[in-house]
Amino acid sequence: MTEKSDWRLRNQEKYLKGVTLVLRVYRQYAKNPKWDHDHCAFCWAEFSTHDSPGVLHAGYATADDYHWICPTCFEDFKADFDWAVWEPST
Ligand SMILES: [Zn+2]
Repeated sequence: MTEKSDWRLRNQEKYLKGVTLVLRVYRQYAKNPKWDHDHCAFCWAEFSTHDSPGVLHAGYATADDYHWICPTCFEDFKADFDWAVWEPST
């Protein structure tokens, strides 16, 4: 469990509480091909299709790819946010 004062928390429960997440390789948001990177919804770690130092290439995404969560924040907040993880069967 984490402290409620964690600097990464900014009311994300309004849109991320209880959602289903998918662990996947980062990909561009299909509805906006101009985006080539995204940030963790909590710590702002960067996800990108580019290969740069410190950039993440996989993480937990909402089903629509809109929100991304890095593995560290996933572990830190999964208990508070009641996430379900959908694992594709194939
Ligand atoms: Zn994070």
